[in-house]
Amino acid sequence: MTAQLIDGKVLAEKIKGELTEQVKTLKKSGKDPYLFAVQVGQDPASAVYTRNQAKTCEEIGLGYTLDGLPEDTSETDLIRHIQGLNQNPAVTAIILQMPLPGGIDAKRVQSSIAPEKDVEGMNLASMGQLVYGNARLAPCTAMAAIELLKSTGIDIKGKEATVVGRSAIVGRPAILLLLDLHATPTVCHTKTRDMTFHTKRADILIVSAGRPGLITGDMIKPGAVVIDVGINRVPVCDAEGNPVLNEKGKPKKKTVGDVDFESAKEVASYITPVPGGVGPVTTVMLLRNAVEAAKLS
Ligand code: NAP
Repeated sequence: MTAQLIDGKVLAEKIKGELTEQVKTLKKSGKDPYLFAVQVGQDPASAVYTRNQAKTCEEIGLGYTLDGLPEDTSETDLIRHIQGLNQNPAVTAIILQMPLPGGIDAKRVQSSIAPEKDVEGMNLASMGQLVYGNARLAPCTAMAAIELLKSTGIDIKGKEATVVGRSAIVGRPAILLLLDLHATPTVCHTKTRDMTFHTKRADILIVSAGRPGLITGDMIKPGAVVIDVGINRVPVCDAEGNPVLNEKGKPKKKTVGDVDFESAKEVASYITPVPGGVGPVTTVMLLRNAVEAAKLS
């Protein structure tokens, strides 16, 4: 069998189209969705991310402000600043940019964001809603994995679903979202005794471990849907296994997932590529949360 590719870029564009319409409708009803991205200091990697955020918000008509605070902002001042945004009715959604300078407890600050404005769904109250099966704002990557799964059109109800990884940002919320869809989830982690036993009986396999090539074709049930969340930078090697160098004489690198794509695609029915699978959909899940937040406002 050769699996069908689940194209994250195509799905992301489709969702963006739907969100554009929803933003227009919200604006007509007097609700103006507006995302505030709070950033402390100037991290170069974060600059690329915020530029993309601004661009994608503009594409769907969503207001966006990059709210930069000085590097020496204290945790208390940052929380006070966020509380001010919580009170501001013009701000319908808030995202806290990572990384934060040392000495600031990200979890504590994250939890100071009003739950109805928490577009990352990482606030304790948002997580609680997820546990109760009432999530409207859930963690974006877990939601992206589920959206890609749904896009295949398979009947999820009653299916065996194995999630590899139990992080708060992906594995745990993915399990809860699968439960909401009436799948039968199992979670694997580093202390799982026989991971292949669990992956091999999964109709749905979601992998978020951050380990390149962790899942190979022989660990997958024939016909399973495989969603690869992992993003890993690995060296490019030639046919003999030697590292290929770039023009600067440094080892050339490429991005791969946690699933060995070549062997997995021969067994699965559907599979997400890396890059181009979960990544682009995660970005639009943030926008979808921002639109949902405006509806809640
Ligand atoms: P994380 O917080 O490091 O958690 C990794 C999880 O995988 C842990 O629960 C760990 O188990 C488990 N694990 C690691 N090695 C394992 C192994 N050999 N066998 C079984 N389980 C293993 O990672 P994360 O934040 O979930 O991210 C995971 C990957 O997804 C990374 O590559 C990250 O870059 C990527 N990611 C992608 C997106 C996206 O938008 N596409 C977003 C977020 C993350 P223990 O709990 O026992 O340690």
